[in-house]
Amino acid sequence: MAQAGTLHDAFIAELRDTYDAEKQLTKALAKLAKASSNPTLRQAFESHLEETHTQITRLEQVFESLDEKVRGKHCDGIAGIIDEGKSIMQEDFDETTMDACLIAAGQRAEHYEMAAYGTLVAWAQAMGHTDAAKLLQQTLEEEKAADKKLSGLADGGINQRAADAAHPDEDEELVAVASSARKSSTKAGRR
Ligand code: ZN
Ligand code: FE
Ligand code: FE
Repeated sequence: MAQAGTLHDAFIAELRDTYDAEKQLTKALAKLAKASSNPTLRQAFESHLEETHTQITRLEQVFESLDEKVRGKHCDGIAGIIDEGKSIMQEDFDETTMDACLIAAGQRAEHYEMAAYGTLVAWAQAMGHTDAAKLLQQTLEEEKAADKKLSGLADGGINQRAADAAHPDEDEELVAVASSARKSSTKAGRR
């Protein structure tokens, strides 16, 4: 009878899954970039695509550091997230709304990766695979930064412009409320 698998076996399996996820994401990020109207958003997807190539190389280094063959195993999780992103891209939305949706799709992928790399780093550290842990940590930081950049773009205008297009009347009311509030409190220090 075969021996029960260990955490090391689970770790290698997760690495293969993540290696495949990164490869799927290179194609998906190129599509997200192409579908973006906002040039800064397109740039964000393009630069994360560049990073993703580095992350793939880094995973190859991790396999090597463990004397394991470089191998991927189909990642169903990211495939599902990418499929959902694809169906959103087929919808007929105005440009800013589509950009907001592309950010949403991108952030789902980044969070999935953050979860995967968070586990990989923790397991590598627990088993004393120090070189692997360092490499995986670098990628984890890049995924977090990519996620933050997307949040910054959403909060920095894309969501609000999409919201204004969705609710033009309410927006006028909000502006009216804001300007009467400004008149009534001169040193409130609002932006
Ligand atoms: Zn191990
Ligand atoms: Fe990645
Ligand atoms: Fe990523």
